[in-house]
Amino acid sequence: MNRLRRSILWLVLLVVVPLGALTVMQYRFLRSLQSTTAQAERNWLRNSLEEVTHEIESNYRTASERALTISADSLMNVDALTEHIRNSPVPGARTFFAIHYDESRAEWGFFAPDGMEKTPSSEQVEAVKLATVSWHVAHTMQRILAQPSLHVDERDPENRIIMRPILDDGLRVIGVVGVVLDEDMAREAMVRIGAATLRRRYHGNDMLFRIGRQFAADHGFITQPLGFVFTNWRAGVRDNSATPEQIAETNFHANILWTGGVSLMLFGAIALAVQSVARQMKLSQMKSDFVSNVSHELRTPLASIRVFGEYMRLGRVTKQEKIVEYGEYIEAESRRLTQLINNILDFSRIESSEKTYKFCETDIVDFVGQIVAGFLVPLRDSGVSISFHPPLAPVPPLSIDRDAIGQALVNLLDNAVKYSRERADIEVSIEPSSFDVSIAVRDHGIGIPAAEQKKIFEKFYRTGSTLVHDVRGSGLGLSIVTHVVEAHGGRVEVTSQPGEGSTFTIVLPVATASHAAEIGGATQREFA
Ligand code: ADP
Repeated sequence: MNRLRRSILWLVLLVVVPLGALTVMQYRFLRSLQSTTAQAERNWLRNSLEEVTHEIESNYRTASERALTISADSLMNVDALTEHIRNSPVPGARTFFAIHYDESRAEWGFFAPDGMEKTPSSEQVEAVKLATVSWHVAHTMQRILAQPSLHVDERDPENRIIMRPILDDGLRVIGVVGVVLDEDMAREAMVRIGAATLRRRYHGNDMLFRIGRQFAADHGFITQPLGFVFTNWRAGVRDNSATPEQIAETNFHANILWTGGVSLMLFGAIALAVQSVARQMKLSQMKSDFVSNVSHELRTPLASIRVFGEYMRLGRVTKQEKIVEYGEYIEAESRRLTQLINNILDFSRIESSEKTYKFCETDIVDFVGQIVAGFLVPLRDSGVSISFHPPLAPVPPLSIDRDAIGQALVNLLDNAVKYSRERADIEVSIEPSSFDVSIAVRDHGIGIPAAEQKKIFEKFYRTGSTLVHDVRGSGLGLSIVTHVVEAHGGRVEVTSQPGEGSTFTIVLPVATASHAAEIGGATQREFA
């Protein structure tokens, strides 16, 4: 057992400790992977968003560039203007305008996106005036400008304007063309462009794209401001089903489940291996105890028989009563040896599944009476008393293997004598019920602690009590009783109180003819 403890200690040191450390490290690694995953997911979303906003911006720039690039001649030609506007749509455009500065006068023209002239609302006119006043001033002052680019005026958020000055050959401002954007239509157009870009680039990824003045923090959107126009708006993107933190959390849980499962299986396998090694070591210990017990059991009576035989041969014993006494002793010891050898042979047959039974109908009361009487013969003057209590009610005949049940009963009687201290006072009783018959052997001996009452039926098992170690035994008796009784379809029960005694009960079923055949077929059952 010490060797086993040492092996377990080594196993714990060499396998379990590193495995435990590995599991802890794995856990910490998975935790850091979780935060890296969330960060990576967020970065990926941010990159996607950058691409989308860039796409929206360039879309607007290109469309506006095309729509607001007209020649100085076209500025004064309404038909050309109408044609140009109709062919150059700007997403979310509400009204196009063209202003021609002529000396101190300004000619205005407003057009719907389809190119038709329209009358704009006064707010739009105000916004256009405010946005273009500096060009008018530049025109009046005859300023020479660099090549004109697109300008955005967002002072009136309801009427944002993209415009471009028109220069003559001398690079002086002669007019302005521009477009007033409609908030709702522009937003719709931008969301459409954004979603289409996401679909195109990240095909298969279910992403949500929104544009708005602000985003609630708890909705998990990654956001950034729009460029070019609508610059006080933000675009936001997120995975449709989960935030980066939720995705990382789900990954972490899946990983930890796998790691935990594998670790558990490993620990379980180690525990099973340790258990099986412990069982094997215990069994081999029990086997070697068994060999030494049996050798001892054989040697002692054989020595006595030889001595008594020698005395008789040499004629040293002359008194008739001494001859009878020694003869009886030799007979009793030979009987015990036969019983022991029978047990060992039976055990070996049971172990190799070769034990067979011959069932025949038996009057169990009569049979038990005979066994008890036979058992008592060699113990006549030993102070052992066995009282037999046959039942008052009639007992139906039982189908049993007489030799096997007889041997089981003798094993119980033998134990009752062995484990009674000074005076063995034993009672044997039979009690029938409708389905079975109980044969009880009761003693007033040393008893069995509750924790051992199951184990004593295992092969080679002997209780650890010192009282038991003073008594000879092989540890096979009860395991044979169990096998024999179970082969009859019955069971063995024990009730015991340490210091007060034990009662072992064999319960045999009342067999019908078919039942007997059935239990006959069970005789090859494995002996555990
Ligand atoms: P053994 O040859 O040791 O008697 P058994 O299989 O017959 O082997 O019994 C197993 C153990 O059960 C015994 O060693 C003893 O500790 C315990 N035992 C069996 N019968 C009794 C009893 N009647 N009273 C007390 N202990 C018993």
